[in-house]
Amino acid sequence: MNILITGGTGFIGSALCSFLIADGHTLVVVSRSIKRNHSNITYVTQIDNSMQFDVVINLAGEPIANKCWSHSQKSKIQDSRINTTTHLIDYFKNTRLKPSLFISGSAIGFYGINTTNQDINETAKGDDSFSSTLCKEWETTALAAQALGIRTCLLRTGIVLGKKGGALNKMLPPFKLGLGGKIGSGQQWMPWIHIDDMVGLITLCIDNKNINGAINCTAPFPVTNSAFTKALSLAVNRPTLLPIPAWLIKLLMGQMGQELLLSGKKVVPAKALASGYQFKFEQINDALNDVINT
Ligand code: NDP
Repeated sequence: MNILITGGTGFIGSALCSFLIADGHTLVVVSRSIKRNHSNITYVTQIDNSMQFDVVINLAGEPIANKCWSHSQKSKIQDSRINTTTHLIDYFKNTRLKPSLFISGSAIGFYGINTTNQDINETAKGDDSFSSTLCKEWETTALAAQALGIRTCLLRTGIVLGKKGGALNKMLPPFKLGLGGKIGSGQQWMPWIHIDDMVGLITLCIDNKNINGAINCTAPFPVTNSAFTKALSLAVNRPTLLPIPAWLIKLLMGQMGQELLLSGKKVVPAKALASGYQFKFEQINDALNDVINT
């Protein structure tokens, strides 16, 4: 298939591109700068209405957790996603042969920040937190593709665990020094997914034409921050000595810390499981062991 990917240079996008190339697909990646030179990928900075694709995958966006959420950083996070998605919708409207499938990014932040111990499937609603509002706007923009007759899947993604980037890159250095610890009460949920299953679920969306709308991209057994901390310390073979108090997170990171580190919901991949998808990594210990020790 002919596949267009925005954000194909990123952490998830790079793993996805490697898989899709090995699977025999032809890839065009939209990037803000064409510095990369993967021999099997065509890089472009803009999409031309004459280009035709079977599938379009939209992963681009300013990183969510790289900088504290000042007013201008929030705008950057929001605009980068909404503008890229709007450009794709405009392209769909104007191109003669439309793709049959649009897969667009989102996050478990969609479900908001109020902590609950109930399983959260794709039917749950959000709230008025920044993360939830951002995901709702991002998804609503993407869903305009449905009105154009394009099957649309929205990837409500948890914390992606992989060797080459993502949240683990930031967590590992203190844990390797034995300085890692649970955050706040440690009771907040941390729905996670191994990078192989993230790629697997995107591939599921491509292969299974019955998948439509939101799909939770999380492993079947989410863990609390406390359990994640224990699993990570086991994987790096270091003790966890220093719990990080909630007040310190709020002081250093403000709203970003409150929403991304101190809150969390027990998101489960109901749609993926109902489709018969077999997760390669169901348990956190296996996933972390694979990412860190193999
Ligand atoms: P990365 O940050 O690794 O990559 C995102 C890509 O977006 C970059 O490669 C870059 O491509 C492009 N980009 C970065 N900043 C901007 C900007 N200001 N404007 C336009 N494009 C920009 O993200 P991931 O691969 O980790 O994640 C992919 C998507 O999934 C993101 O939208 C993210 O929010 C979402 N997600 C990821 C999670 C995770 O744990 N990784 C969890 C939940 C959601 P280039 O430089 O080539 O233009």
